[in-house]
Amino acid sequence: MLSTPVRVRFAPSPTGYLHIGGLRTALYCYLFARRTGGRFILRIEDTDQSRLVEDAEEDIVASLKWAGFSVDESPEQGGPHAPYRQSQRGALYRAHASTLIDRGHAYYAFDSPESIRLLREHGQAYDAAHRMQMQNSLVLPRHNVEARLANGDAYTVRLHVPEDTTICFEDCIKGTVKIPSNSLNDQVLVKSDGMPTYHLANVVDDHLMGISHVIRGDEWLPSTPKHVLLYRALGWQIPVMAHLPLILSPSGGKLSKRSAQRLGIPVDVRDYRTAGYEPEALLNFLALLGWNPGTDKEVFSLAELEETFSLQRVGTSPGLFDLEKLKWLNGQHLSRMQPSEVLQRARPALEAAGIAPDEAYATEVIRLVKNRMHRASDLAELFSYFFADPITYDAAGIRKRWKPDSPSLVLRYADRLARLAPFDETSLEAELRTLAKTAGVGGGRLIHPVRLAVSGTTAGPGLFAMLATLGRDSVIRRLQAAAQALA
Ligand code: GLU
Repeated sequence: MLSTPVRVRFAPSPTGYLHIGGLRTALYCYLFARRTGGRFILRIEDTDQSRLVEDAEEDIVASLKWAGFSVDESPEQGGPHAPYRQSQRGALYRAHASTLIDRGHAYYAFDSPESIRLLREHGQAYDAAHRMQMQNSLVLPRHNVEARLANGDAYTVRLHVPEDTTICFEDCIKGTVKIPSNSLNDQVLVKSDGMPTYHLANVVDDHLMGISHVIRGDEWLPSTPKHVLLYRALGWQIPVMAHLPLILSPSGGKLSKRSAQRLGIPVDVRDYRTAGYEPEALLNFLALLGWNPGTDKEVFSLAELEETFSLQRVGTSPGLFDLEKLKWLNGQHLSRMQPSEVLQRARPALEAAGIAPDEAYATEVIRLVKNRMHRASDLAELFSYFFADPITYDAAGIRKRWKPDSPSLVLRYADRLARLAPFDETSLEAELRTLAKTAGVGGGRLIHPVRLAVSGTTAGPGLFAMLATLGRDSVIRRLQAAAQALA
């Protein structure tokens, strides 16, 4: 049983646009919060001023909105623990750094950048084995330290990592994690510019904001022992830790920005949006990259994920990024949407193609083709012939399907359609079959040329339903135009 209310934060650093791995972390945080009736908090970790990207925060917020997450507390909305941007919380970190120093868990280090560089060059860390050779408040006499501070000498504050012990913590995905303290260096907590590092700010905020569960990517696991030391030093309870499995690229190895680009996999969430992926499909895809429902069900809406998700079903083995699966899921989600919803999603592509369809007609077209759509933009691309007469005809299709008698056959069909009533799927088919019989040919000899003539392509939805949707005038005009163009 959980004794504290569930509070989960997504804590991105605005050092770039939200990437796909970041969105997966946000999703798992969000789902866990919703599943448990907890709060989902957005905290912006912008203490590394040198790496800030100006519009990154805006992009992160926009991407979370696009994904359809409702956020309970954030820099935008505020909340009981505002501000939610670390750059506005400097005084809190300084106060806690002082507490750590007073209690002997951290110390001032006055080393010049040059001596730090030399240490590194010798392959040495600022750790228990070397800290005594350095210029810090552990070795310098107290009056010297005070004089330097009063003098305004540059310093950093470092974590005093205890020697020869094992740091042990529970991760609810990885199990028990044990790290020898001697493998850690004395982590910088406050940089020489007075800004906290990620480690100090992250721990202070997670505690002060009442975060109950820390859910984040595997790449942060090596930081956790340092955080555990900080929690202990400050006398605070450690939140439940959950480190999500890696995401692997289809060619094996970690999915990095570089490997993704090489494989044509978009990296930033905004690129998925412009590539025409629906947020529901992307979230469904990301949910399955690490979590499994324990059933064969593969297609989930966000609401269904909110009901089903649990950290217990997040595995330890890496998730394999398979773009084909995402494409398939995108089609699945489109086919489950109401036609009017698909139309909304297709609007930008329709507009870009200069297509301004009648709402009722477009809805009818979508009803007919939505099971064949992989992206909403297919409506303006693959199925553009529903909105404008074809001006070209698929060359391979012509070679294969357009015979010497095709022009006269499609013209005869056009003639009969002028009088057909009702102009519906059943009569359209009956009429074609009767004509084929009269002409002494098989149905295919008419079906394929008619399809080519009205759509310009050889594939598409059922022919007669398509003709009924296109309507009498349009079908007759197209049949006549093709007979002439391909005579
Ligand atoms: N600011 C870190 C990031 O960019 C947060 C990691 C964490 O969740 O602790 O991912």
